[in-house]
Formats: sequence, C-alpha cells, structure tokens
Amino acid sequence: MIIMKVLSPMSEFNISFLRVLATTSKRKAKELCPSFTFLLALFFLSVGSASAQQLSTQDLGNSLTLINGAGANILVKQSANGDVLVVDGGLAENARQTLATISDVTGNGPVTMLVNTHWHPEQTGLNQQLGAQGAIIFAHENTRQWLTTAISRPWESTKFAPLPVSAQPTETFFHYGNLDHGGTDVQYGYLRQAHTDGDLYIYFPNENVLHGGGVLSNDGWPLMDWWTGGWIGGLVDALEVLLEVANDDTVIVPANGPLMDKTDLQAMRDMYDTIFQRISSGFRAANSIEVTLSEMPTAEFKARWGDPEQFVRRAHESLIPHYTPDA
Ligand SMILES: [Zn+2]
Repeated sequence: MIIMKVLSPMSEFNISFLRVLATTSKRKAKELCPSFTFLLALFFLSVGSASAQQLSTQDLGNSLTLINGAGANILVKQSANGDVLVVDGGLAENARQTLATISDVTGNGPVTMLVNTHWHPEQTGLNQQLGAQGAIIFAHENTRQWLTTAISRPWESTKFAPLPVSAQPTETFFHYGNLDHGGTDVQYGYLRQAHTDGDLYIYFPNENVLHGGGVLSNDGWPLMDWWTGGWIGGLVDALEVLLEVANDDTVIVPANGPLMDKTDLQAMRDMYDTIFQRISSGFRAANSIEVTLSEMPTAEFKARWGDPEQFVRRAHESLIPHYTPDA
C-alpha cells in the first residue's frame, strides 16, 4: 500500500492569520501592500486545502487501483490503450487531491469514463471536473434524474442542489449490459431499489473485480435512503444479485470500508435478511418505530457495526411504500 501526500488541515498559521486579516480588513483596500496581497493569496490557498483528507492507494493488479479516503472507495482501471475508467469520485471537496492521485497512478492517463454507482455526493464529487473535460459520465437513468433535481430528505436539514448540466450523467441504462473500455470488458447491472433506486454494480470479468456500489457499506450501517427509492427488502435482493455475479475468487469493492470476498457478501446478505424479517414482521403488526427499536432487531450485529438507531429508523420508514396499501 502506498501512502499518498497529505494536505494539512487548518493550521495554527491559518488561525493566527485570520486574526491579522480581521484587523487589517478595517483598512482601505488601496493600503494593501504587495506582500500582504501575497499572504492573502497564500491564506486562501491554505483554506482551500483545509478540508482535504488523507488518501491512500491500493494496487489490485491488472492496472486496477483502489483509492481510499476521499469519502467513498474509488476504483481506477487503466485500459490497454491508456484510457482511464473511474468508478465513483469521492466528495467534491477532495476532487483536486483525488484527480492528482488518479493522474499519479495512471501516468496522467486520460479519464474517459466516470461511473456514478448512485447519486450521493460521496460518489459524484468528480462529475464537475471530469464532465467539463469531456469524460463520459455513466449511471443508471434514475441516478441521472436525481442529479437533475433538488433533494431535501425529511430526516436531515442538508439540501442537495441539482448538478450543473455539464456534471450530469451523459450515458444511462435501465437493466444491464456490457461495454468495451479501451480493450477492457466491463459488465454492469441495475440493483433496483436497494440503497437508492439508482444503484448499479460494475464487474471486470477478466480481472475478476466487482464494485458493488452503495449496496455495500463495509465500515458501518448504511444509509437506508428511502427518500430516493431505497428500502431494506431491496437491499437484500441486491445482495443476492451480487452473489450471482461474484465467484469464490472475486475481489469485491464496497462503497465504503475494506475489500470483501464472496463469504463476506453472503454474511452481509444474511445479516440484512435477518434484520429485514424482524423489522417487517413488526411493521406488519403495526409496531411503532419506538417499539421496533426497543426490540433490538440488530442486537447480535451491534458489536461489529456500531449504533444502529439511525439505520433501524430509516429501515422501518423504508417499508412504508412497500407495505402500506395506499402509500
Ligand atoms: Zn450512498
């Protein structure tokens, strides 16, 4: 594993310089000396990197590289002709560092295709830059539609603005298919309503590497984003699709967390099926969310996956469109 360059967080220099800036801003602009202007530029450059994260890379062989630390796992594949395919982009605030890392591992190979495994910001943070450079942005059609729409979800105050047209997906699909990327065979498929309603997987059959997108959260409970079409029953179904795609030797890339194999995938499917059965039986018995929480439907999984409250709340809510006749 190669540890990449780290950009510094907000430093003492920045904080003390803020004080200088506050004092100096009372002066007229014409009094600013050249050295001050230089320091001002330096300050804003520093602030620009304040949110940067530590990225690391992992060589998966066959010109495939995993980038960690940008907000989501990013899979980079360089094809025989040098063209680069990127699966998910991380958060926009890390875009400059992510693009530098991609250039580094591909010898400045041109990124000709970016895949969004779903619409969330952790996946779409390179859309603006790579779209402007003319890369194909590939996604499920539902993902494209979410990215053209303002979204505000009922459980949080965060609002998501639509992406500019130049950053929206340019090629979409509905079911499944395959494409040739510079000599690399790429298979893809729709995972239906699962984490969202636009989830896809990307599979490189010759390299035997599978990116499962947002359906796979391997470092904690996932967001059960029912507001944009996800639901817990569909999450189980999607995991079963991935089990059909993978074989015993497949290297499986989740949206977050460490790499997985088919055994991990099966265990994850079984866990969510267990939780789904419990929550849905409570839901059909008209249990409130408070009753469901008190019954601890994730009890034996909590030690590994952490506090499940938000996941259980969203999972319970996600059943409403599927179990309520007039919903
Ligand atoms: Zn997501």
